[in-house]
Amino acid sequence: MSQGKYIGVLTSGGDAPGMNAAIRAVVRTGIYHGNTLFGINRGYQGMIEGDIEQLNRYSVSNIIKDGGTCLQTARSSEFLTKEGREKAFKNIKRFGIDSIIVIGGDGSFRGLHQLIQEFPIQGIGLPGTIDNDLYGTDFTIGFDTAVNTALEAIDKIRDTASSHSRLFIIEVMGRTSGYIALYTGIGGGAEDILIPEAPMDMQKLTAKLNAQHKAGKKSSIIVITEGEAAGGAFEIKSNIEKVIEWDIKVSVLGHVQRGGDPSAFDRVLASRLGYESVLAVMNNENDKMVGMANNTATLTPLEDTWTKKKDMDMTYLKMNEVLAAQQEKALEVIA
Ligand code: ADP
Repeated sequence: MSQGKYIGVLTSGGDAPGMNAAIRAVVRTGIYHGNTLFGINRGYQGMIEGDIEQLNRYSVSNIIKDGGTCLQTARSSEFLTKEGREKAFKNIKRFGIDSIIVIGGDGSFRGLHQLIQEFPIQGIGLPGTIDNDLYGTDFTIGFDTAVNTALEAIDKIRDTASSHSRLFIIEVMGRTSGYIALYTGIGGGAEDILIPEAPMDMQKLTAKLNAQHKAGKKSSIIVITEGEAAGGAFEIKSNIEKVIEWDIKVSVLGHVQRGGDPSAFDRVLASRLGYESVLAVMNNENDKMVGMANNTATLTPLEDTWTKKKDMDMTYLKMNEVLAAQQEKALEVIA
């Protein structure tokens, strides 16, 4: 293992609860092993502007419990250009930084991969996104907290849905990935879950909802992903309200899902990945993402994280259909 490295850490792209716990673990593991640590503020934009400072173990005291990121995050259009990346590279070299750990999602990893191709810099990615859409890790930092936040909202919505005998369509985040919808839907006892990975036939859905209504079901909740092919929650509502006997309401949960204190799961995952990312740097690994798969630390080439599709276990969706089915009516719909 190489010691005495100059390691820069940054958070980039969309923020996710648990990023602070990851920063803390990177800084403390790095210093423990005799490296010098730098915080790069505001993602790649801070790199371009030279917004960089040395960190000590106390710089990251008391942040493990906080949502957001103490290094702040940004989206940088300048970093999309070669000139921008060159400026960024020159700045980190001014501080003697020879390796960087980037906490972010697939966009941030594309940027890191590009930088590594063009300049002599070592880089490791750490998966921080609520969407859980990265190949190479079972879970990403922030996903568990986002699901718990959405779940809290669904529990409250169910109270009003059942009091008024309503059908609620709840839209959660996830872009083109259905993980947040799947886990939130199952945890919240949703009657239906619409995810991009398993396009739903609208006719089948409306037939099922009407059957539920006729069977005397008081309320129903459908959870959908923001990037659903059939459209957002409002679009789906306008498509089905002509043929549905229920009063339909829509709730788009939005940015509330990104905030809040990280869950215990996210703090532990972030700590482990922060720790593993420094070991990867010291083992001279490059252009890879650290992850956890089957409870084992893994390294995946950065390019795979966005070119390969993470396998979703469809048993969860099937299971939810069974759990939500009104037995005799389910048979009728199948027939
Ligand atoms: P996330 O990491 O959450 O997916 P973004 O997609 O917004 O977030 O990416 C974060 C930043 O990474 C962008 O603002 C940009 O600076 C950089 N980036 C994204 N894609 C590329 C790319 N293909 N080449 C270079 N930099 C990129």
